[in-house]
Amino acid sequence: MAPIPGSGLAKGLAVTLRTMTRKSVTAQYPDTQPALPPRSRGVIGLFEENCTVCMLCARECPDWCIYIDSHKETVPPAAPGGRERSRNVLDRFAIDFSLCMYCGICIEVCPFDALFWSPEFEYAETDIRDLTHERDKLREWMWTVPAPPALDPGAEEPKEIAAARKTAEKLAAAQAEPRTDPQEGQP
Ligand code: SF4
Ligand code: SF4
Repeated sequence: MAPIPGSGLAKGLAVTLRTMTRKSVTAQYPDTQPALPPRSRGVIGLFEENCTVCMLCARECPDWCIYIDSHKETVPPAAPGGRERSRNVLDRFAIDFSLCMYCGICIEVCPFDALFWSPEFEYAETDIRDLTHERDKLREWMWTVPAPPALDPGAEEPKEIAAARKTAEKLAAAQAEPRTDPQEGQP
């Protein structure tokens, strides 16, 4: 059967009308900020006080975009007669976000909780070299990391808190005990 003349045009107009009356899903960024989940993977923050320069993150990074430099320092013995110890001191910690693929492996493998996700994502640069963030910049990102979610009220207490509570209770009990005078009862 031959198509009715003009039916194609009518169909096309119907599609146009339908689309025009539908709510738009296009976000007008940057005039409208996107509503991202609070724990989005935006950028990585470094809490360098926790970093022991174990190099695990740099070794596991699939893109090899974490650069760490360090040197060894000798620490004097804690007690007289003890042995001197050596420890790693961080000289450089940088992440090249032009290579990073935001896999999160570095954050997962860090055994000392020194790396965290921040939801900040507005750090585009016109020069690609500026996408290598050095330790000061990574520390600034640290202050934009959201607080961890509250513990489930029914969850088992973390063992660190339980151990700290036991120690505090022992101390309090020791302080509450009446002191016995060594001279007491002597003639
Ligand atoms: S998120 Fe992945 S790619 Fe980016 S620095 Fe960490 S390990 Fe490397
Ligand atoms: S894995 Fe953690 S502690 Fe080890 S070098 Fe990386 S950030 Fe520092």
